[in-house]
Amino acid sequence: MRHKIKVYLLLLVVTFCTFFDTSNTRADSSYLGEISYGAWELGTTGSAKYLDGSTVFVCIFLEDMGASWTEEEKQQVEDNLEVACDFLVEEGERYNKDVRLIYNLSDGSDLVYDLYYDAYFPGSCSGSTNEALKEQVYDMYDYSVEFVHDFIPSVGLMDKYKTDSIAYLVFVDGESDTASAFSYYHNNNTYYEELAFIPLRWQEDYMVNPDTYAHEILHLFGARDLYTTKEINGISKEFVIYTADRYPEDIMLGYATDGVSWEDSISSEISKITAYFIGWTEYIAELEQFPSIEPEYKASFTIKKNPEGNYDEYTLTSRKVDEKTHKANILEFVVGTIISIYLITSIIKDGKRAKQIKSQQEEIFEDDSSRF
Ligand SMILES: [Zn+2]
Repeated sequence: MRHKIKVYLLLLVVTFCTFFDTSNTRADSSYLGEISYGAWELGTTGSAKYLDGSTVFVCIFLEDMGASWTEEEKQQVEDNLEVACDFLVEEGERYNKDVRLIYNLSDGSDLVYDLYYDAYFPGSCSGSTNEALKEQVYDMYDYSVEFVHDFIPSVGLMDKYKTDSIAYLVFVDGESDTASAFSYYHNNNTYYEELAFIPLRWQEDYMVNPDTYAHEILHLFGARDLYTTKEINGISKEFVIYTADRYPEDIMLGYATDGVSWEDSISSEISKITAYFIGWTEYIAELEQFPSIEPEYKASFTIKKNPEGNYDEYTLTSRKVDEKTHKANILEFVVGTIISIYLITSIIKDGKRAKQIKSQQEEIFEDDSSRF
């Protein structure tokens, strides 16, 4: 029987962050026999260390009973991942960081796996009170985490790719209103491995775009969600409101980011707030006003106990629009404008014509009257 992990889903909006908690000590190196996680045990970050230098991504295509990945869908994932990684590299350059992300989705690559899940993908349990559904979701997460832990030769891959940082991206052939990241919480986890779950679609015809890929990957390196309160991270309601106002384009605002979710590019940014959480900057002035956000260790998660601030449940409303919706809005605006111009022009023309007819009638009247 599989070992059961307690999974606590804390934040449930469009993109969200989760962590798992356990009191057992499975993260002990002795569990793996001769294999040692080495630097992970000494560090505080989990398997994905710092978004500076090399990190290797193991990509897992999860296939449930009702789905099968097509080549086109896998290509879509690869394209999105490439855009997301380019974005992270370019944003790193702005902060003088050398971000190197290693992945390879080609056939025969040792960085890609297919994983069959012997049940139906349950979608998400975002906001749901359905315990049975939650159990199904957790079961799928557990299944994937255990697969990563038991079957992926992480130490060998890190040796081969000359890095001590590795993350696991699980792509799900299905629809869900959430993507999620399992970030390592220092001294509070069963596993060191950090995973992100990214569905193929939000809903029919609405694909998950590269910005979500980048958002979830950033969680694995310490980025906090900025769109909702989260007491264990010290993200207070005041800080959420402040960040949305001052840094409206930060990618960790999720769908509360101001802008468009493009299908082949990312218009959001890594503001200095997220840069601080992932260890790209040592200090931000906001620490004076919001001391609760300061992590115990650089680019790491540690549970905060009774942090300062208001932690009433509070989530920002969405500002980001999907590319399809954005284009539909533009089309609606253009058509509306054309119709308005046409109507206004017609009214003006009619007015001129009426004036012309009137003046012609007056001329005829004058001519007629001159005859008398
Ligand atoms: Zn998130």
